[in-house]
Amino acid sequence: MTNHDVIIIGGGPAGMSALIWCHSLGLRGVLLEQSPELGGQMLEMFHRVLDYPGLVAENGRELRDHFAAQLDLLQLDYRTGRKIEEVDLSQRRARSGGEWLQGRGVIIATGARKRKLGIPGEERFEIRGVSFSATRDHSLYAGKKVSVIGGGDSAVQNSLLLAGICPSVTLIHRSDKYRGRPDWLKQAQENPRITIIDNAEAKAIEGGERVERLVIEDTRTGQIKTIDTEGVFIRVGVAPNTEMLRGQIELDEAGFIKTDQRQQTSVEMVYAAGDVCRPACLSVATAVGQGAISAKDIAISLT
Ligand SMILES: Cc1cc2nc3c(=O)[nH]c(=O)nc-3n(C[C@H](O)[C@H](O)[C@H](O)COP(=O)(O)OP(=O)(O)OC[C@H]3O[C@@H](n4cnc5c(N)ncnc54)[C@H](O)[C@@H]3O)c2cc1C
Repeated sequence: MTNHDVIIIGGGPAGMSALIWCHSLGLRGVLLEQSPELGGQMLEMFHRVLDYPGLVAENGRELRDHFAAQLDLLQLDYRTGRKIEEVDLSQRRARSGGEWLQGRGVIIATGARKRKLGIPGEERFEIRGVSFSATRDHSLYAGKKVSVIGGGDSAVQNSLLLAGICPSVTLIHRSDKYRGRPDWLKQAQENPRITIIDNAEAKAIEGGERVERLVIEDTRTGQIKTIDTEGVFIRVGVAPNTEMLRGQIELDEAGFIKTDQRQQTSVEMVYAAGDVCRPACLSVATAVGQGAISAKDIAISLT
């Protein structure tokens, strides 16, 4: 068993910020990241990042490099390739491999992943016509007929991006209410290359070597329809990485961690920061802010 002031689980922006702030506040923090490198979802940002105040990065990886350089400059204790497999939150313990780590406080910053539909064909055709990111993959679909599934900002934005290079984009949404920005939706409605199908649920993705068809069902009438498509982009929100916490901490109905304004969870001295606690704005800036708040509140509690 190794002892630390604060155990930070997850090396995305929330976790990295928490580690930096632990250092500033005189706490010995250790960060464990399951992937071989730090960054979390920042590594999936293939566009120019213009909304993180203070610096413009060509992509998320470049932004991540700035964060990581700061950790190195301060000689902070972070360990990559170290998944936390089990936690005992009431005792503030976490296990990675054979090693148990003991903290005086714990910050959970395990983030979120893209939600999947769980329909036939989704897994089979991944990277052969099914994509979870138009920003990353759009160039592979130039000149092709594609579909986008979802009703939030990402789905509408992906449709607009694809309409710039594809002759036909079908946006499929299971209701007729949109959660995204009205100006983007208006642009999509007015774009002659985009067809919007409301009140429709994707049921299956079909094809041979690659995707050829999408099967949808009208949610009001139950009528089944097949759309010819060469690419299916799935943008149906995110799911939190909280499976290992179930039964130990209060989660909301979708599995995100409930916190108060100081990022405290239902368990004493256990905090959560970033996408894992469903902030109103899923962003690097929010994750960084919540990481800082968590470290600050732990420091106050320990002094
Ligand atoms: C395609 C895309 C584009 C985006 N564009 C922008 C943008 O332009 N601007 C912006 O501000 N935001 C953007 N975001 C959102 C932003 O990336 C996230 O809000 C932010 O990364 C959340 O940070 P986080 O630290 O909470 O979680 P994450 O970045 O998800 O990091 C969580 C980390 O925890 C690790 N982890 C999980 N479970 C364990 C475990 N058991 N043990 C150890 N480690 C674990 C994961 O491997 C991961 O590295 C984008 C996201 C995506 C996917």
